[in-house]
Amino acid sequence: MELDKMDENDWKYHGEGNKSLVVSHVQVSQLVLRLLKYPAEDSENPPQTAEQAFRQIQNIVDFSSNVMSSLLGEKFIHSGEVVKLPLEFVRQLSIKVQHQRPAWRCDKVMDIYSGCALCLPNLTCPALHQPTHTPPLCIEIKPKCGFLPSSKHVSKDIKTKVCRFCMHQHYKVTTTNHCKVHTKQKYRTTTVQLHLSGLQRMHFAIRHLIEEPQNNFKIFKGGQCIYSSKEGSDDSLDLNSLLHHLRPYFMYGNNRINSHMTGKAVLNDFIQVLVNALLSGGGGDGGLVTDRRGEGRSFCEASLFNKERIRHGSQGLPSDTVLFRILQTQMLDTLDIEGLHPLYRRVEQHLQDFPKERTHHQIDGPYNEAFMEKLQKCPTDDDGSVEYAVAKVHQYRVAMTAKDCSIMVALVPSNEEKEDDEGDFLSSRPPAFSYSVSILDLDPKPFDSIPRQLRLDQRIVSCYLRTGGALP
Ligand code: ATP
Ligand code: MG
Ligand code: MG
Repeated sequence: MELDKMDENDWKYHGEGNKSLVVSHVQVSQLVLRLLKYPAEDSENPPQTAEQAFRQIQNIVDFSSNVMSSLLGEKFIHSGEVVKLPLEFVRQLSIKVQHQRPAWRCDKVMDIYSGCALCLPNLTCPALHQPTHTPPLCIEIKPKCGFLPSSKHVSKDIKTKVCRFCMHQHYKVTTTNHCKVHTKQKYRTTTVQLHLSGLQRMHFAIRHLIEEPQNNFKIFKGGQCIYSSKEGSDDSLDLNSLLHHLRPYFMYGNNRINSHMTGKAVLNDFIQVLVNALLSGGGGDGGLVTDRRGEGRSFCEASLFNKERIRHGSQGLPSDTVLFRILQTQMLDTLDIEGLHPLYRRVEQHLQDFPKERTHHQIDGPYNEAFMEKLQKCPTDDDGSVEYAVAKVHQYRVAMTAKDCSIMVALVPSNEEKEDDEGDFLSSRPPAFSYSVSILDLDPKPFDSIPRQLRLDQRIVSCYLRTGGALP
């Protein structure tokens, strides 16, 4: 990529989240640019200088490569690099992508002032082993928080029984007029179940992610998003069109000859391949992964799967899997926001008295080895020190990032070259896939966001208690 010869026509809209907008290169399909977004009301007046924007993105790179990568496993992480783009290119790009952006995301605008962006490999177009004629399938899952808090600081019992995801969904439905969730008027817990392993449980979680993807599930084919929820719209998801895309990947044996395979069978095979990839150590050829027992964890009572679990008991995830690593990192939130907030206040008070200490405690970075050390060298018990409070706050922020990241699973059919081989053509085995698993969206969460987290938690929990978990 030659930064001085950037042309907006080489780039297209790829997707966006709450904080950033992503464009992908049309030819060099392995690259994306991730640009910051600002609230639309700040569009004339950027909230930070170009230097601050550069620093913010450099912090994202450092946090991902020095902190999250050592906790989650290097093999899953692509931290990318900060690039400085010509302002004219960024302006033209912003105009070009504007009409492709979903309306409900347009309360924010793309940063066109700093010229800074994060350049990353396009994880929806992976360069897996052999080049095939078939475009790769990529599945993005936002697993959210996978455990129920057991901290003694938790003041409302319901938090130890119903997972945050379910309560948050309930809160959104109750307080906003979002049409997306209430179609079925019940929750399909995904997050806790997804982390619980047991092939059946994960199967269940993914099936419900497909039925109600909301913001937590997307499918890409050849780098194009072919399945996601259209938030804020009444359009029902087109499962038939998804099946149409998936079917060619899962035709085998007799199905291939008489071209018949039920939608249910296609979905089952697809979910199975995805579960295998999630339970693998990160990349490989998708041999069948067997269940391994691990420690038990608590279950969300609001989940439809709860009845199932009573019948099947509890199993944990193998420790080398992406979900296990994410869960372990999320569990650095040991005190829950209720136990953490007083420590945040201790740090805040200290910084008011000694503002210069902000740098020493690395409150806003840099996210380097010294930061990692502060995070890891935390005494088990509160000795009343600022150091203890800082370490717990750092740990909490890392856990927040792990609760907000996405997993990208790329699948490429791996037995194509055997197509002419009649034996394989008629094989009754499901097709094999090569896969790679990555984790994306590993931005540090700001120190100052902690009080907001507490308020949100209180609102979510009291709303759930007020309505007894019932929907309007
Ligand atoms: P959130 O609201 O979840 O915090 P965000 O604003 O931090 O999101 P990202 O999640 O990093 O932004 O990016 C938005 C979307 O762009 C992702 O959900 C994903 O679909 C896509 N995306 C981001 N990075 C990549 C990448 N490296 N390769 C392919 N697609 C990507
Ligand atoms: Mg995201
Ligand atoms: Mg994010």
